[in-house]
Amino acid sequence: MTLASESPLRRALYRALHDPLTGLANRGLLMEQLAQALARARRRPGSVAVLFLDLDRFKVVNDSLGHGVGDDLLVEVARRLERTMRSADTVARLGGDEFVVLAEDVAGLDEALSLARRLREAIAVPVRVGAGQRVVVTASVGIALSTPGAVAATPSSLLWDADVAMYRAKDTGRDRVQLFEDGLRAGSLDRFRSEAMLRHALDHDGLRLHYQPLVDLGSGALAGAEALVRLQDPERGLIPPAEFIPVAEETGLVVPLGAWVVSEAAAQAAAWRSLQPLDAPPMTVSINLSGRQLTTPGFAVEVGAAIARSGADASHLCFEITENTLLDATGAGVTTLERLKELGVRLAIDDFGTGHSSLTWLRRLPADFLKIDRTFVAGLGTDPGDTAIVRAVIDLGQALGLTTIAEGVETPEQLDALRDLGCHWAQGYHLARPGPPETVTTFIKDDTRW
Ligand code: C2E
Ligand code: MG
Ligand code: MG
Repeated sequence: MTLASESPLRRALYRALHDPLTGLANRGLLMEQLAQALARARRRPGSVAVLFLDLDRFKVVNDSLGHGVGDDLLVEVARRLERTMRSADTVARLGGDEFVVLAEDVAGLDEALSLARRLREAIAVPVRVGAGQRVVVTASVGIALSTPGAVAATPSSLLWDADVAMYRAKDTGRDRVQLFEDGLRAGSLDRFRSEAMLRHALDHDGLRLHYQPLVDLGSGALAGAEALVRLQDPERGLIPPAEFIPVAEETGLVVPLGAWVVSEAAAQAAAWRSLQPLDAPPMTVSINLSGRQLTTPGFAVEVGAAIARSGADASHLCFEITENTLLDATGAGVTTLERLKELGVRLAIDDFGTGHSSLTWLRRLPADFLKIDRTFVAGLGTDPGDTAIVRAVIDLGQALGLTTIAEGVETPEQLDALRDLGCHWAQGYHLARPGPPETVTTFIKDDTRW
């Protein structure tokens, strides 16, 4: 379909289905074509092939030569992909530097691979940009093929498979083709999917921070907020950290993810501080760390730089670590914690009571806060054992000069019990659920009391 000028309706329809920059099909149109192709494939011998292309290091071109050049380059790549394909095939741009080619009646693997080779050759021809400069781009390509005669793949599963394969191609050196195989699927498919999803989020501004208020039980005022990361998925909405933090740790992606969280939360802390009256006790913004970050060389230096850029006061930031995080991180981790403390930030021991730490160890740590795990708070007032544990932890915290924070407060009874036991701060659904930063901003502006 070319840009039809006949009627406003046709123009609106065209716009709804095409990428405005390149005129290629957008995700919506691609999914529709893919569904139709899969339906047709049931009655034909060939396969449907989905080729997922992502330009290598496109961000470098964009950042060094400017967005104008970046856009020109994307348009040129789009034209080349179209010229390489048959007119019955669909070429789509999903956003950024991601392109998808959909081909029908593909005889088999060899044909799909040769198609990928032709596409890569077309892209690799140097592109003339601006004043006589030449840029060479390469692409990583993932291929997924529908299996003739087997249970039909769905459009989104086929696209996912191609996407997962593309990320494998990137991981194993870029500028290459990777076929999606059942090997990639066996058992580890979920892991690959989460990894692909996470990489997308990192590359495409898909992470969000929600914040949960920490309440001072003495004054009832807002004492701080804990930053809790979420992943914004176009189809599934907000995805909780339990679904991607384990994969992030395993793959090391928690390092770039954590760096983003630190800059974002520090900037937020600075913004909130500027909203508070000068004589109000400054809010503490908490950030969760994983063991992998603590053993990353230079982590504390990077944190220092991020705080400096944000304009936040280091003493208004708190890093939360669980007992097990530290056990994983061993010696290097403790050194990192000391470096962090030298920056002036606070430290909290998270989920206290669930790990295997010793009291000697607790005393050696340069911590400021002790967070009582919500499994103990749950039984407060009803389970005598839990009540005894919470009392003991609060006493221990106070003896060590730590501020005690109860997590997971869900009922008014638990809150009363914590006040009676002398707990300093509390956090939980009964007080406020985690939410977007604006929610906390409103609490600050209204000087909300609990
Ligand atoms: P956490 O640090 O212990 O965070 C508290 C978790 O308890 C949050 O879950 C919060 O939503 C939940 N919660 C708060 N109040 C209540 C309550 O009253 N009842 C119950 N049942 N739950 C409550 P969320 O957001 O799903 O985070 C889970 C974990 O993911 C966090 O546990 C933290 O360990 C990890 N995490 C979150 N953000 C980050 C991050 O930026 N980096 C790293 N490395 N880990 C993170
Ligand atoms: Mg925490
Ligand atoms: Mg916790």
